[in-house]
Amino acid sequence: MGCAADVNDDTGPDTTPALGEADLRRLNWALAAYARCSAALIHSADPADLVTSICEAIVGQDDYVLAAVGLAESGPGKPVRLLAAAGKARGYLDGLNLSWDETLVGGSGPTGRAIRSGEPLIMRDALADAIFTPWRGKARLFGIRSSVTVPFKQGDQVIGVILVYAGRANAFGPRELELFCELGAELVFAMSVAESRARLAAAEVARRAAEDATREAQADLTRAGRLLSVGEFASSIAHELNQPVAAIITNGDAALRWMDRDQPDLAETRAALKRMIRDAHRASAVITRTRGLLAKHEPNYETLDINSVVREVLAFTRGEQGRARVTVQTELTVGLPMVRGDRVQLQQVLLNLVLNALDAMADIMDRPRALKIRSSPGPDGGVRVEVEDSGRGLDPDGVDRLFDHFFTTKAGGVGLGLPISRSIIEASGGRMEARAAPTGGALFQFSLPAAGEAVA
Ligand code: ADP
Repeated sequence: MGCAADVNDDTGPDTTPALGEADLRRLNWALAAYARCSAALIHSADPADLVTSICEAIVGQDDYVLAAVGLAESGPGKPVRLLAAAGKARGYLDGLNLSWDETLVGGSGPTGRAIRSGEPLIMRDALADAIFTPWRGKARLFGIRSSVTVPFKQGDQVIGVILVYAGRANAFGPRELELFCELGAELVFAMSVAESRARLAAAEVARRAAEDATREAQADLTRAGRLLSVGEFASSIAHELNQPVAAIITNGDAALRWMDRDQPDLAETRAALKRMIRDAHRASAVITRTRGLLAKHEPNYETLDINSVVREVLAFTRGEQGRARVTVQTELTVGLPMVRGDRVQLQQVLLNLVLNALDAMADIMDRPRALKIRSSPGPDGGVRVEVEDSGRGLDPDGVDRLFDHFFTTKAGGVGLGLPISRSIIEASGGRMEARAAPTGGALFQFSLPAAGEAVA
């Protein structure tokens, strides 16, 4: 912005080049205000605080009676919205309807003119200056005699003004003007910095919210993991079932003995049979409850990017990967079609495949323990995911039974992970199979149909 002031000719321009004592004092005010503003410019983090601090810094210790910052708005009547004001003459602005619309009285004063022209404007004496006529009475009431109005720009566009009012006439000359122009430019810069800081702070809040969501997803996965950590689960079922089943056997034996007597004791036999029926009901209740636990919740199908599910599961299992001393390599094809599935269920599938792979590599000492996960275009325009390990490989006798319920070769295994995984994939319209990896380990793969949208 140009800093050549538009000075009201009624009182004559300030042409004196040499600085008299009065000029020096007046310049000193402006310099002091400028210095105080610099601190505010540096320290304010929030745009609203910034303009308030600037106004307070300008008025300082009553050097100026009023300082304000307004924004030029583009709505009807082109209002100038005050962002902040400070100083003992602050009340002067109350109810003033500042505008930059030249057809309105409110737009005919220094503020409207400075915004329209983009040039700063000095009003030397409120009592003499013609453009100030509409506000003269009010200015006198608040002890205002002169002012400087400095527009500030973003790019080429005037976005607002700094208004500074003094209690004596001729308080602003070219040097003060220069300082306030400088301040205007710095204010725009500081406001944009403060705004980006505020945006950063908002982004930080969003990041925290995303972290919370991830934690929740992790909790979901842990719950899902419970289902898959079936070793634990199975031993508790076995424990609960063992008791009624053992009691049924005991009572069955007893009933047979009572009946095998020369004189069969029907009353005792009946009592034993009753106990057997009661225990069978108990066992049946355990099974019903277990089925309830295993029964998958109603799937929550959504359109998702399978690569994101792979990344989530790898992130969630980072601890296990470290403990198992496994290197993970991913080859995730970019731009795969979106698939339709229940995110938690698909996490379960991948979690199961990853944990199985880690188990299979636990005893490997003579070669690197490598887990490779690839995603690629699959059959019929869908996607394929492969999980390959360098573990002990698939048992040739068991390979056809891998997906059978309760097939396991692990001491603490239950053999439910793979059949559950396969049923999840099939329910999502896909297929799942296993084969020996070229390197000797195992390779599990599943495919899923496309949901009909490409990943952005
Ligand atoms: P569990 O892990 O409880 O045994 P699963 O259904 O997940 O149940 O796996 C069944 C069996 O499949 C395992 O016991 C194991 O014999 C075999 N298996 C699964 N994954 C692998 C693998 N990556 N490498 C070798 N064998 C595997």
